Amino acid sequence: MNKRPSILIVDDEVSNIEILSAVLEEDHDIYFATSGDEAITTARAALPDLILLDVLMPGTDGYEVCAALKADPLLADVPVIFTTALGDQEAEVKGLTLGAIDYITKPISPIVVRARVRNHLEMKRMRDDLATLAVTDALTGLGNRRRLEQALNIETARLALGGGTLSVIILDIDFFKRFNDLYGHTAGDRCLTMVAAALNRAVHHASDLTIRYGGEEFACVLPETEHEHAMDIAHGIRERVEALSIPHSGSDVAATVSVSIGVATAVCVPGATPEAWVKAADAELYKAKAAGRNSVSGRTFQAVVDESRPLSSTG
Ligand code: GH3
Ligand code: MG
Ligand code: MG
Repeated sequence: MNKRPSILIVDDEVSNIEILSAVLEEDHDIYFATSGDEAITTARAALPDLILLDVLMPGTDGYEVCAALKADPLLADVPVIFTTALGDQEAEVKGLTLGAIDYITKPISPIVVRARVRNHLEMKRMRDDLATLAVTDALTGLGNRRRLEQALNIETARLALGGGTLSVIILDIDFFKRFNDLYGHTAGDRCLTMVAAALNRAVHHASDLTIRYGGEEFACVLPETEHEHAMDIAHGIRERVEALSIPHSGSDVAATVSVSIGVATAVCVPGATPEAWVKAADAELYKAKAAGRNSVSGRTFQAVVDESRPLSSTG
């Protein structure tokens, strides 16, 4: 289901908001603000797909709002179109320099507004799709390694604010090289897709993230998840992969495809290195392999502060 794009209209003249709403409300969810400060607050709360921003307003003017939006990581990518009565080239250049994507002049021409808004929303959608594609694994549809790095940066910083716990799971298919050698690369790919699906079924929270970490290695990022719970999830993953019953005559540990799993859990502290979770989970994975594969190994650890990391970093 495609959700309707949302537009924030900012203008100190209510009549202008009414005119623009009338043009756009049929196809878009409309938010509005009548001052610069209100615009910034509403934008942060609503995360609109596009902002129509009046330049001349008492108090915080459109230029200042635009600069504030572009400086906010959450809002920097939201396209801003200035609306102004000024036919002034200098003002246009100033707005575009501040990061606005386009200009619409008043009095408003409904067909021009509709056409420009449609084009800019379409371009925004394409940019968003590309950004998603860049962090998606093509074979399984899970997040890729870059997505893992992004998520770890964001989650460790976010959870550090409240001393929250983060668990990371890393799993690796057992004797997968032999699987490919025996059944072929295409069957190998199909196996990877099935394991990815099993992984998705084993995690349940919207904030849990599943990743294809490398060739036949996968990861889960589990925010606000205690170690015991993460271990339960890991055992669940192992069982679900076993239940796929994919024949693997080359495995030394089972008749079907199995996985070895490492789990690491730590309380997040400001400035902690996100890589520490992956490293610890990887070490546990190694233990699971050494202990005979088709098994789970896990531990909690103390997140250490990396003095070289900026404390406010959210990736
Ligand atoms: P272990 O039990 O110690 O994990 O042994 P393994 O054979 O699973 O591990 P190894 O790292 O030796 O081999 C991994 C294999 O995964 C090698 C490669 O053929 C296969 N592989 C990696 N990426 C892909 C892929 O995208 N598709 C397929 N079909 N195979 C892949
Ligand atoms: Mg393997
Ligand atoms: Mg491997």
